Amino acid sequence: MPTYRAVRLAAPGHPLEDSVLEAPAPGPGELLVQVKAAGICHSDAHYRSGVGSTRHPLTLGHEVAGVVAAVGAKVTAPRVGDRVCLHYLVTCGECLDCRAGREQFCATGEMIGKDRDGGYAEFIRVPARNAHPLPAEIPFEHGAILMCSSATALHALRKARVAAGDAVAVFGIGGLGVSAVQLARALDASTVYAVDVNPTKLALAKRFGAVPIDARAGDPVQAIRAATAGRGVDAAIELIGSARTMEQAVQSLAPQGRAALAGLTQERLSVAPYRDILGREAEIIGVSDHLASEIGELMQFIARGELNLREAITRVVPLEAAAINGVLDGLEAFRDEVRCVIRP
Ligand SMILES: [Zn+2]
Ligand SMILES: [Zn+2]
Repeated sequence: MPTYRAVRLAAPGHPLEDSVLEAPAPGPGELLVQVKAAGICHSDAHYRSGVGSTRHPLTLGHEVAGVVAAVGAKVTAPRVGDRVCLHYLVTCGECLDCRAGREQFCATGEMIGKDRDGGYAEFIRVPARNAHPLPAEIPFEHGAILMCSSATALHALRKARVAAGDAVAVFGIGGLGVSAVQLARALDASTVYAVDVNPTKLALAKRFGAVPIDARAGDPVQAIRAATAGRGVDAAIELIGSARTMEQAVQSLAPQGRAALAGLTQERLSVAPYRDILGREAEIIGVSDHLASEIGELMQFIARGELNLREAITRVVPLEAAAINGVLDGLEAFRDEVRCVIRP
């Protein structure tokens, strides 16, 4: 039996470990994909600490791109040798939510790298319909991070109904924020305000055309109000996952503005109903994952040069537990890193 290397979580609250596993044969409708790049996401730090992941031992990694190594019975596409990136939600395709185009709510849905083995490995087994063609001009590293941060950033902008002429504020310029700034501009937002406390990340957002708002220098809500002649923004996208920044996102809204919340937190959110919501007909909108259909759209943004992930990847590490644990430690400490990718 051939074997392959993987970096796995044996139990929550422990560092990831180097492992050797038996290579799975793809079943009917499945693929075996040789991983060429896997993104390390802030969610993975949560899963390592025991928040969110449901089974152990588990191979983490939900941002995956690679080459099809083997196909199971009944698979007509893709073919062995094809470059692919993997949609991380494995869904039934048949339930009410799947049929309504809300597949992220599939009752039997599983997320790779969270509910089933993911891409911190040399190989991964997935249903063939999770594989999306990765054009030759898009590097594997970019294909990998598209699958989480960029796709969820696009979904957040769609949920916030960002349209041409809208003023947009993006709270948090990490892996998602760098994509959100560029995609908001691609959707013809009039101005994009980028809120963060990290000067490196603010400078990056500025290079992508955003107006940086340094939250260390003062209240970002006041800064946004001052920059918009008191009106506020039509859409605020919260990507940090703290009650404070969510409240700031809501307080930054213009009349009929939409705050799309995509950062994860267990904290309680506090709003002043009249001032923040009713009086402005503002909306608070939850954002969960993204849709397979949005992946094709992302490829088009890249093809048109509207989404550039070159500066989003700040480091490449080997498939080794020590290196990956170090990156996860850095994410927990909110260091300068935007996105780090594993190249097995
Ligand atoms: Zn992710
Ligand atoms: Zn379903």
